[in-house]
Amino acid sequence: MNRVRCLVFNAALGPLDYRVPPGMTVEPGSVVLAPLGPRQIIGVVWEAERLAGTEVPDHKLRPLLAVLPVPPLPTPLRRLIEWTADYYLAPLAAVARMALSSTAALQGGGTITEYRLTGKTAERLTPQRARAMELLDGQQATIRELAAIAGVSDGVLRGMVGAGLLEAVTVDSDRPYPAADPHHDAPALSSEQAGAAARFIAAVNARGFQPFLLDGVTGSGKTETYFEAIAAALEQGRQVLVLLPEIALTQTFLKRFEARFGVPPVTWHSSLKASERRRAWRSVAFGEAQVVVGARSALFLPFAALGLIVVDEAHEISFKQDDGVRYNARDVAVMRARFENVPVILASATPALESLQMAEAGRYERVVLPARFGGATMPDVQIVDLRTDQPERGHWIAPPLVSALKDRLDKGEQSLLFLNRRGYAPLTLCRTCGYRFQCPNCSAWLVEHRLSRRLACHHCGHEVAPPDACPECHEPDCLVACGPGVERIAEEVAEILPQARVALVTSDTLTSPAKAGEFVEMASSGAIDVIVGTQLVTKGYHFPELTLVGVIDADMGLEGGDLRAAERTYQQVAQVAGRAGRGEKPGEVMIQTRHPEAPVIAALASGDRDAFYAAEAESRRDAGAPPFGRWAAIIVSSEDEAEARDAARGIGGSAPRLDDVLILGPAPAPLSLLRGRYRYRLLVNARRSTELQRVIRQWLDPLRFPPGVRVAVDIDPYSFV
Ligand code: ADP
Ligand code: ZN
Repeated sequence: MNRVRCLVFNAALGPLDYRVPPGMTVEPGSVVLAPLGPRQIIGVVWEAERLAGTEVPDHKLRPLLAVLPVPPLPTPLRRLIEWTADYYLAPLAAVARMALSSTAALQGGGTITEYRLTGKTAERLTPQRARAMELLDGQQATIRELAAIAGVSDGVLRGMVGAGLLEAVTVDSDRPYPAADPHHDAPALSSEQAGAAARFIAAVNARGFQPFLLDGVTGSGKTETYFEAIAAALEQGRQVLVLLPEIALTQTFLKRFEARFGVPPVTWHSSLKASERRRAWRSVAFGEAQVVVGARSALFLPFAALGLIVVDEAHEISFKQDDGVRYNARDVAVMRARFENVPVILASATPALESLQMAEAGRYERVVLPARFGGATMPDVQIVDLRTDQPERGHWIAPPLVSALKDRLDKGEQSLLFLNRRGYAPLTLCRTCGYRFQCPNCSAWLVEHRLSRRLACHHCGHEVAPPDACPECHEPDCLVACGPGVERIAEEVAEILPQARVALVTSDTLTSPAKAGEFVEMASSGAIDVIVGTQLVTKGYHFPELTLVGVIDADMGLEGGDLRAAERTYQQVAQVAGRAGRGEKPGEVMIQTRHPEAPVIAALASGDRDAFYAAEAESRRDAGAPPFGRWAAIIVSSEDEAEARDAARGIGGSAPRLDDVLILGPAPAPLSLLRGRYRYRLLVNARRSTELQRVIRQWLDPLRFPPGVRVAVDIDPYSFV
């Protein structure tokens, strides 16, 4: 009797056993189609001994329907899926689903039909067609994808096909990517870079697990250095995964990669078309895609022959996923490297304390690039004390920064102003009655977006048009914007420097990799005088003419009591400061603050990173916080407040009493209402040595909740709201 256990893609079901019909061969990792009641379901054959299942007698087993035409999920990936599910207390099926992230790819190769404009126009176009023609310029995709781009129905586009405006193109979804050439244009490395590269290359050639912390100041050429490791992996015919924190950075990376290796790498992120996902996934699975660059979801791609993993800007918090499977891609990347038995490079100018600690403990090899490449110097940092150097009323740029901006404009150099807040103003209130605009679904103020004329919630996306009168007291024209967002700073720059060309860079303006590319093009060619941006512009970019960086409010991130607040402020300001003076001209950084004496501000001013990290480590040690202790958050939510509270109390009431585990709460979460759900939170703090996951599993597993209650566990949380 040939029976197998399968992990099926239905989170409510455990593993299921099936019979392998005669003539079918499967092995662990095989992706199969299985019957489930009257339906069919996709599953993965797993080692039966690693998955607890219910013993169904042989004669009751139903036969598998088919093996899907993709390679079996490799063993290291299956072990990674198990580890991730176990560590982050997530359903195995939910993690495995992240590996099978293109349904189309599982159906096999073959051709698909895409459409593009023919270049012909018609005499009279309906307004819909005219608009579609404009929006579809340069696009090629399926009818459904084009309909989404053009904002019209499939029917409109089919009509355009009939009218000869759109034409069908047959695309082979398995066509190979052009080959990267490891020797295409290798740079001459500085001796420090060469030393670092030699360490990486040796590790790639040794084909064993070796984590590296590539700790190099901004502009030291970290990218060029790990490119040499990539070249070594290519020479071996092995694959490379490069994780970037944001899609916006991809464009810059693609260009640099192409300059070095002759062709762009394969990309993987959420805005890929279905056909691109299918092609990339299959190419990775068959071992053909050489280098994949992607957002955190690329971590679970089924590489056939992985040789190296790189996590760039490894300190970035966007590597932490905060919904669904709540995992940290940086940490899972290290685990993947371990299961794959390959080196992993975590690159950063401002490493996370956790990573530095691992280096200090000797578990990661630290590779340091202490100076900028090509003799560029680190920028000069000045503190602007907002208590003495006050901006004008209703303004946010203090006089010293105003003069510096003017000076740069006169010299034809570029400036960058950083404020990590989208929109125009974070709060709108009524001057007459004090009414404040709040989100109905979240405990948060609505942020004014003046350019798009809306008040928006940054948590749930709720938006309203700004009314002419106060909704409470009905007084007309009485609404005032409180506080600054980047739009307001841009407005202030336009007022101070009317002739300056200002670019606003936020996730509202850089909405696609193409837009990001356009911005980089303009900034590099000197078509922009002042960049005003959020954290999107703090990292990765290299604009040689940029010589002044102004931090509008260095204190902003310090509010809120998050355990990583100081570290994050340090990283953000140091990164944005790192954009200044990367070319031949020296850079200057001005940091506006009301707390010049705060240790993090003082460290930024003096450039004494080691002292800051040492002090930060001390206070974390005292607080039992990571990396010295461990935290987990348990978030209980429901649309019914009483139900959420009762469930949270139930959890609190059955909390285990253990010497080395401290449980705080339940208490309303700081964000006590989110997307219409009331939220309560418990925090669990434990020693490093505690098996935190086991404790939580034993605590929560026996508990039962009403169907409207959701209980989410966040291991090593980054968000404390
Ligand atoms: P980091 O990522 O460490 O901030 P980059 O890798 O962006 O630094 O390097 C900064 C700049 O210096 C880039 O424009 C890069 O192309 C250039 N650069 C670095 N190393 C070299 C090298 N060995 N030869 C030529 N240019 C280099
Ligand atoms: Zn909201």
